[in-house]
Order: sequence, then structure tokens, then C-alpha cells
Amino acid sequence: MEPDVGLELGAVVPDDLAGMRLALAAARRALADDEVPVGAVVALDGRVIGRGWNATRRRADPTGHAEILALREAAEVVGAQRLPGAVLYCTVEPCFMCAGAASHARVARIVFAVRDPKFGACGSLGDVPRHPGLNHRSQVDEGLCADEARDLLVGFFRSKRRAVAAPDRPASASAPDESERDDPDSPFSSGGTRG
Ligand SMILES: [Zn+2]
Repeated sequence: MEPDVGLELGAVVPDDLAGMRLALAAARRALADDEVPVGAVVALDGRVIGRGWNATRRRADPTGHAEILALREAAEVVGAQRLPGAVLYCTVEPCFMCAGAASHARVARIVFAVRDPKFGACGSLGDVPRHPGLNHRSQVDEGLCADEARDLLVGFFRSKRRAVAAPDRPASASAPDESERDDPDSPFSSGGTRG
């Protein structure tokens, strides 16, 4: 695992690639917590002001998505509920909740790595940031570091499947959600990407 260098508040984000690399570092923190590896970073004026990594299980919180946690920290840092000019970097396409929160925060731009065909609300199942009915619209850019973000997810779900297949596991033990559904080759084979 790469060291998560630079994932501090105030870290310099000179460009989108740097922002996405920090979001990937955040996703690896989720992985270290045995959570579905999704990470997010909020940058304003070229500096990190918010970080989040998926914590839905650890916190037993359905709203514990990386983007929500990053936006919360950013709002706390700025001392305001709105973050005009901010960029939200995410390793996975934000869901309706997170895209909605980003819209409430008035972020200028959302940059995400891979699409989430099951929950994505920035082009997949809907398009909240660019919805014509909303007063505020955010620019959306996708595809940056997509392979890295996807590899993290694929590796996570594969390891979960291996754990289920292990012979020393009691037969009565229930399988993690991610292990038993849908297309086994899809990184999004769970009911949702965040567990
Ligand atoms: Zn979300």
C-alpha cells in the first residue's frame, strides 16, 4: 500500500490529477478500515479543505459516504454551509445523496474517476449536478485515474469473495453482501458500492 502522503488539510492541489490522487489515497484509508474503498477530497483555491473515505459500516451510518464526510469537513473548515468555487474529487461517481449535498454546497465542479451504474447520480441513473431544474449547476468531469479507482474496488470485492470461499469458514456464516450478488466480475456487484 502506498503511503497516504499529502492527505492533510491545506495540502496543495495544483491540478485535477493531484486532487484525484488524494481522493485515491482517501479510498485506500477506507480499504484499510475494511470498508468499500471510495474516497473524496474537496479542494478550494488549490488547497485541500475536506477529506472523506467511506465509513458506512464502521459508523453504522448510511450517510457515511466519502463525499458527505469530505463536504462536512470542508464546510467546517470554511465555516459556512456553501463552498462556491470548490472542487469535489471522488473516486466513484457520487450517488443521489452526495450529488445532492454537493449541489446544496454549491460546489463549482465534481470530478470523479469511475461510474457507478447502480447508484451514480452524475450521469448514470440521473444527473443531479446538471439538472436543468436546479438553480445551481456544477460542472462534471469523469474518467481521471479510472483504472486505479476500479482496481481498488475489484480487489476489495474479490478479497471478500475469497473470504467467503475459504474452507475454514463456518457453513452457517452469512456472506457479506458483496459476495453473493450479480455479476461476479463487476466491481459493482453488491447492492451498492459503499456497502
Ligand atoms: Zn454517496
